[in-house]
Amino acid sequence: MAEKTARRGLLIILSSPSGAGKSTLARRLRDWDPSIEFSISATTRKPREGEQHGREYFFVSEPEFKRSVTDGAMLEHAHVFGNFYGSPRGPVEAAIGAGRDVLFDIDWQGAQQIRNSPLDTNTLSIFLLPPSIRELRRRLEERGQDDAATIDRRMQKSWDEISHWDGYDFVLVNEDLQATEEKLKSIITAARLRRTQQPRLTEHVRKLQAEFEDRP
Ligand code: GDP
Ligand code: ADP
Repeated sequence: MAEKTARRGLLIILSSPSGAGKSTLARRLRDWDPSIEFSISATTRKPREGEQHGREYFFVSEPEFKRSVTDGAMLEHAHVFGNFYGSPRGPVEAAIGAGRDVLFDIDWQGAQQIRNSPLDTNTLSIFLLPPSIRELRRRLEERGQDDAATIDRRMQKSWDEISHWDGYDFVLVNEDLQATEEKLKSIITAARLRRTQQPRLTEHVRKLQAEFEDRP
């Protein structure tokens, strides 16, 4: 049987209530390591000012979204804030098959579906908590992308998301942005050093063994 020497990429899941800092941190992680691929979700929500189809999201109609789900083209999907969101399967499988890590900004329902899938052995899930509920609201207001009613709705829903914090591998309180970024990088660096993530080590150990046996 052929030995497996190719590394499969990690599925890095980032969840938090809206406004806790997922998008900001995801951007910083990609600047740190451009080889991390971002899973671009499909959504039925309308684009915000400045958002581009195929960059932040694939903006699709509800019938299109439902067809993708029926066709099995979504790795996971969920209904969040009155809209459908899902992670297209194809790009994720291609990336991890080629050994590239994929970052997901998805809610707890999506994280749970990936955890219960055959891909679970390769996942790393991280939950971000805000330092306080007041600060969460302040960040949503400061972001300035939603009207007051939408902010109220997101705040109402925040507990739904926070209440699932204990299903994640890692939990970070995003108080100081720089400190959270450093911790995230450490988590990813450590996960990449798992023995199972380094199949090529078998070759290295074999070389060490040959050297050991040949030593004078
Ligand atoms: P924001 O992240 O709060 O700025 O607002 P969005 O409308 O972009 O996202 C709303 C929620 O949907 C967030 O909790 C995202 O993590 C979640 N979400 C985005 N894409 C997906 C997806 O593909 N699957 C799932 N399950 N959740 C998603
Ligand atoms: P999410 O993607 O989770 O909805 P964002 O990344 O859009 O959240 O962050 C919401 C707002 O909070 C943004 O304006 C962002 O600049 C700000 N923010 C994120 N993390 C911090 C932090 N640690 N301290 C202060 N502001 C932050």
